[in-house]
Amino acid sequence: MIEHNFKKKYGQNFLNDKNVVNKIVSVAETSKEDLIIEIGPGGGALTEELIKKSKVLAYEIDKELEDNLKSKIKSDNFYLIFDNFLNRNIKEDIKNIKYNNLYVIANLPYYITTPIINKIIEDKIDVKKMVLMVQKEVGERFSAKSGSKDYSSISIYLNYFFDINKEFTVSRNSFFPKPNVDSIIISFTKKEKKYNINNEDKFFKLIKDSFVQKRKTLKNNLKKYDFKIIEKILVKNNLPVDVRAENIPIEVFIEISNNI
Ligand code: SAM
Repeated sequence: MIEHNFKKKYGQNFLNDKNVVNKIVSVAETSKEDLIIEIGPGGGALTEELIKKSKVLAYEIDKELEDNLKSKIKSDNFYLIFDNFLNRNIKEDIKNIKYNNLYVIANLPYYITTPIINKIIEDKIDVKKMVLMVQKEVGERFSAKSGSKDYSSISIYLNYFFDINKEFTVSRNSFFPKPNVDSIIISFTKKEKKYNINNEDKFFKLIKDSFVQKRKTLKNNLKKYDFKIIEKILVKNNLPVDVRAENIPIEVFIEISNNI
């Protein structure tokens, strides 16, 4: 492990398990002409393998890692920006780099997992696939299907854009310093065929409102909505009228959103 003053506030738990690094790289399936965005290269454990496969643009907030990263990774296909990823104009950063497909591969700083994913979606960055290490419980929520206890508005939101797959779990022993949580690798593959939706903002608001109080019925959470129309759609889809949001598949939410 490198000599470094590890900073908890930046979520600095570096991978020290080559096996895990290699598995992440093989899940990604990138090729020479692709560009990988890596958020938080840290000590470069993942970066040094990614650069063997593709071009890499890495964003790192901690300037103290500069000397180590620059001496470890020497390649014309390596672009390194020292800044807070959340403040970057990504489209501007990649506009002069030639590439085929864009990927995001990262062992994320967990304190900003959702803001990072939201930024990529909201900035409309056209990624083919993201392979992300996240905290295990968070990954379970991202990949949950209707009917499971982890199914929530974020599961539906992410599922709207990506096919989400749980790849493999990673023990806390694979990091230095050792974190207090276990981790999981989740892949997000851009949906080939997007859902047919009339108004995205309306849909996103509907799912947020539907889960405001998870233990309540949909009807209770959607008091401000015209529930007559929603009731008809539930019945048509063989769902009870006192159903909870956690038991409603994304397709039904889309049908509701398109009809209210
Ligand atoms: N990729 C390395 C590895 O797997 O060993 C390090 C992963 S560590 C979990 C997260 C990294 O993200 C740290 O290097 C941290 O400094 C960096 N980081 C934290 N917040 C960041 C931000 N807002 N923008 C860019 N990098 C950030």
